[in-house]
Amino acid sequence: MLEIESQRPTWAKIDLNNLAFNYHSIRKFVGESVKQMAIVKANAYGHGAIECAKRLDAEGVDWFGVAIPEEGVQLRMAGVRKPILCLGGFWPGQGSLLVDNEITPAIFDIDRAIALDGFARTRGKIVDVHVKIDTGMGRLGVPFRETGEFAERLRALPNLRIDGMMTHFAAADDLKSDFTAEQMRRFSDSVDIFCRHGFRPSHIDMANSPGAIAFPESRGSMVRIGGILYGLGEDVLPKGIERPELRPVMSLHSRIGFLKRVAKGESLGYGRTYVADADALIATVPIGYHDGYRRSLSNRAAVLVNGEYAPVVGRISMDWTIIDVTNIPNPAVGDEIILIGEQNGNHIAAEAIAEAVGTISYEITCGIGERVRRIYTG
Ligand SMILES: *Cc1c(COP(=O)(O)O)cnc(C)c1O
Repeated sequence: MLEIESQRPTWAKIDLNNLAFNYHSIRKFVGESVKQMAIVKANAYGHGAIECAKRLDAEGVDWFGVAIPEEGVQLRMAGVRKPILCLGGFWPGQGSLLVDNEITPAIFDIDRAIALDGFARTRGKIVDVHVKIDTGMGRLGVPFRETGEFAERLRALPNLRIDGMMTHFAAADDLKSDFTAEQMRRFSDSVDIFCRHGFRPSHIDMANSPGAIAFPESRGSMVRIGGILYGLGEDVLPKGIERPELRPVMSLHSRIGFLKRVAKGESLGYGRTYVADADALIATVPIGYHDGYRRSLSNRAAVLVNGEYAPVVGRISMDWTIIDVTNIPNPAVGDEIILIGEQNGNHIAAEAIAEAVGTISYEITCGIGERVRRIYTG
């Protein structure tokens, strides 16, 4: 019998105990003396920034990292008091968001540094900033060759305090390339230049997930950890290296919404991309590409039903996915479907879904739509 649901039964389960496990596992691996910044941008890669941050806060994480000031404000409103670094800097009109909420911005643009300094002065405050150096990512940061000039100009901004320096790796998952080593050299030179200008940043950080695991020399005084905190390692860590034990944090669930027999030769879904080659038992599941179950998985993915794999047949549409349950023992309306996760020892990893789509697991978890309820355990 279908239990009475008051909401569409499609949900992402977020296992906060596994998040805590990963945090401690990573901490032990990189060394207790290295601070850990938990990157919770993009709603904690889809896992729920507030709930994840609160749990990590309780576990002892040192810093939080967000992409934009608005995400930092959300954490502050939820009661997070730990330091927050805004990795992407800020827009010219966002000075008050930063200063009033004590969010530390990455800084790399002198005009915005001047504006922030001026804004801090009107509030009678000295504001902490972290200088972001571009050593080869090519996205944001003071171009490393211009470090001296930037440091010189910062000396004229007394209401900014240089609390940290950072850079970001472009290819730390590639052990065959020496580019990460080159980025580290460039960064080290930039830090030296800042020191010669009289700055004494307390935090020196470079490493993202693959950097922290694969390049011990890159750990500096702090590592900035996103993906592996959420247990997403298989597609961002280099193969064959020693690594901390990680557990997946998100699983994705739904239920059979409709069940029917289909005769041999009938087609299913938009574009009639699937034609039954025998009489079949077909189930319709209330999840679609708006929920982040990507259309490119049409006729390619499988889900778990009663512990067994059932193939996705036909096109995934905006709200619905069709699966073939002919070989599943006793399927019924209301049976739980696992789209990402484990059932009876069989499992489907976000990394495997990502590979089928042609992307990385981060894009899968952060693409799980807002319509999908997050249910937190632990
Ligand atoms: C997103 C991000 C990180 C975290 O990267 P992961 O691979 O998820 O660990 C670290 N630093 C910066 C600047 C980032 O933008």
